[in-house]
Amino acid sequence: MVKNEIINKSTDLGFSQCGFAPCEPLENLRSFYNDFVLKKRFGALQYLERYAEPRLNPELLLPGAKTVICVTMNYHQPEQIPCNDNFFIAKYAYGYDYHRLIRERMDCLVDFMRSTFGDIIARAFVDSGNVLEKAWAQQCGIGWQGKNTLVINKSRGSFFFIGIILTDLVIKPDHPEANHCGECEQCVKACPTKALDTPYQLNIPRCISYLTIENRMEIQDDLKDKLNDRIYGCDICQDVCPYNRLPVTNTIPEFLPSAWLMTMRKKDWISLTEQQFDQYFTRSPLKRLGYQGLMKNIHANHPSQR
Ligand code: SF4
Ligand code: SF4
Repeated sequence: MVKNEIINKSTDLGFSQCGFAPCEPLENLRSFYNDFVLKKRFGALQYLERYAEPRLNPELLLPGAKTVICVTMNYHQPEQIPCNDNFFIAKYAYGYDYHRLIRERMDCLVDFMRSTFGDIIARAFVDSGNVLEKAWAQQCGIGWQGKNTLVINKSRGSFFFIGIILTDLVIKPDHPEANHCGECEQCVKACPTKALDTPYQLNIPRCISYLTIENRMEIQDDLKDKLNDRIYGCDICQDVCPYNRLPVTNTIPEFLPSAWLMTMRKKDWISLTEQQFDQYFTRSPLKRLGYQGLMKNIHANHPSQR
């Protein structure tokens, strides 16, 4: 059966979950998305405004697509970077940049589908196209979008990457996952910048992940005071989520923190040279931020250097 063969291959490639949904326009999200754009909650991520229609209708990205396949890969590590006397980087950034690794494995999955099922069309996306990955993860039965806006799986939590494949193969769909947040508001209460004050809607310009990764402007002072040693990302709204109490870990070697990263402490970050940055972060997601961006975030956290 086509579906089982794809699931089995995805497991062989290290993916944790694999779900399927019909490739149809996400009409149920249209007013939500229009409201998001209207209220300009996207910060400097203007592409979210520009490419609204292909996001809502993926067939515009791959004419003839019949099925959306969603794969995930857990990234929570058995060993955490020590937090004493240290700056914080998001867990997903401990190892290699996931874009490349997941892309390579998704390309393997697409190659497998082509060699097994013949002359099909298929296209893979990892944070790289105009695809609403989180909405599709829910449609494919992987999890629901929680009040922290992340996709949560009841037994696996939310520490996973998401990849999407569009294909013209017709595959029996899974059931969309229901919302299981219930009365819980732990993420809303824990967010230091009040970026989740409207549950299920991230106020991007106030989110520390955005401020320390995507934002290229100076961080405003009232938000600097909320960083609390965060120099690349922020996992607070995931760490407090009850569904992450027992996170599923991944031991894919590329995602493990390097021995060097495990020894870094505040003074090492503050005195980091551009040469060291280039040497140690070549394959890291921090490379995208660049040396100047990283130092800007360190200085924003370190009052003596503001
Ligand atoms: S990542 Fe941090 S700042 Fe952003 S919404 Fe979650 S808790 Fe708030
Ligand atoms: S912390 Fe609670 S409200 Fe927030 S995403 Fe998790 S379950 Fe939902």
